[in-house]
Amino acid sequence: MARYSDPVCRICRREGLKLYLKGERCYTDKCAIDRRGYAPGQHGQTQGRKRTSEYGLQLREKQKARKMYGVLEKQFRAYYDEAARRKGITGDTLLQLLETRLDNVVYRLGFAASRPEARQLVKHGHFEVNGRRVDIPSYQVRIGELVSVREKSATSPKFKELLEAAEGKTVLSWLERDMVTRSGKATRLPAREEIDAPVTEQLIIEYYSR
Ligand code: SF4
Repeated sequence: MARYSDPVCRICRREGLKLYLKGERCYTDKCAIDRRGYAPGQHGQTQGRKRTSEYGLQLREKQKARKMYGVLEKQFRAYYDEAARRKGITGDTLLQLLETRLDNVVYRLGFAASRPEARQLVKHGHFEVNGRRVDIPSYQVRIGELVSVREKSATSPKFKELLEAAEGKTVLSWLERDMVTRSGKATRLPAREEIDAPVTEQLIIEYYSR
C-alpha cells in the first residue's frame, strides 16, 4: 500500500502549519514548525515573500488536506468525485468522507496519538469493526458501526500505553467511546464546525472544478 515517505515535519513546514503528524512530539518545543516555521529547502526562508496565484492557493489547500489525512492524490480525487456526486454541500461531504475513514476514527477516538500512527495500527490488524478484523485504513466507518481494539492487541505494552493516554482525551460530540470495551462509534456525521481541519474546502472544490 502506497504511503508518504518524506520526513513528516517537512510536510508541515511546506504547508506552513502544524498538521500533528508525530503525536506527542507535536505538543512539545521540539516541533519543527515552532523551531523553523519557514518552508524547507534552500529558498524556504524567502518563499513567504513571493505572491501566490489563485491556482497556487487552491493547490496548497488541497495538498494541506491530503497530507493531513494521509491520502494520496488518486484517492483524494476519488473522495472529491464521490462528494460531488452526493447531495449536499460538496466541501462538507468531502470532509465527512475523510473524517469517517477508519484510521481517522481511531485517531479521533484517542486510540492513537496521530493519524499516521492510527493508520499503522489499523494496517497491522489491531482493530475490529463490528467484531471483524479490518486492516484497511481507508475503510469507511458507517454510523453505528463499532470500532474496537482487538482483544489480543489490548494486552500488549504498546496498547496499554495508548489506552492509558486515551483515558485523558475527550472525544468529539459526533463520536461515542467506551473505555471498558475499548471501543467507539460514530453516532452521526460531523458538522463542518465540528471538524477542526484548518482548510478552506471551497479552494479545494475550485481546484478540482477548473
Ligand atoms: Fe508537524 Fe508534529 Fe513535526 Fe510539528 S512535530 S512539524 S506538528 S509533525
